[in-house]
Amino acid sequence: MTDFAALRRAMVEDQLVARGVTDARVLAAMAEVPREAFVPEALRARAYEDGPLPIGDGQTISQPLIVALMAEAARILPGDRILDVGTGSGYAAAVLARLGRFVWSIERIETLAERARATLAGLGIGNVEVICGDGSLGWAPQAPYDVIHVAASGPAVPATLERQLALGGRLVMPIGPRADGQRLVRVRRTAEGAWEQDDLGGVAFVPLIGAGGW
Ligand code: SAH
Repeated sequence: MTDFAALRRAMVEDQLVARGVTDARVLAAMAEVPREAFVPEALRARAYEDGPLPIGDGQTISQPLIVALMAEAARILPGDRILDVGTGSGYAAAVLARLGRFVWSIERIETLAERARATLAGLGIGNVEVICGDGSLGWAPQAPYDVIHVAASGPAVPATLERQLALGGRLVMPIGPRADGQRLVRVRRTAEGAWEQDDLGGVAFVPLIGAGGW
């Protein structure tokens, strides 16, 4: 039997703490969410590898470090309402759900949305709702959000998404070319009509496909 708990602890130390993730709540969430439950059965033994893994339909579950860095950059508070665009396996949604109050997570591929729902329910995670649809323009019914987390890369931050941020809200999203040269950016809504953007570094994500993406 693989000792997943030991692999998870090692991942937190060797991949996250060693590379500068310091937020104690983020580290605790990463130490608690069982990543092995979110990867395909055949890849379970590789769940704590230091990289993305395929989850079917040409999509991937992000590298643990990226999930942690994005969660840390979003500065999530326990009462926060969170929008997660690109559910994929549901892993990032599960991490975000430990940090905030409720997560609305949107996935455009129905089979992935279905599987993520089943995985989250199986783990007894009740504060995530998975919606199937195009999240590139956000999800108006529950806006505004304290945090918007986008796990797929578009040409630029859609203005519609920026407008779904609450005052003081934070959006974290990869933008840039479809292939090489993407940047992870954070946008903060500082006033009714003012947003500040900062660059968090180079990344590589699958494309955001939809009205506000490619
Ligand atoms: N956060 C995920 C990884 C996401 S990979 C995890 O933890 O497993 C990015 C996902 O975004 C893919 O599943 C892809 O299908 C989805 N996606 C791409 N464009 C989208 C859009 N416009 N709306 C919703 N989901 C989208």
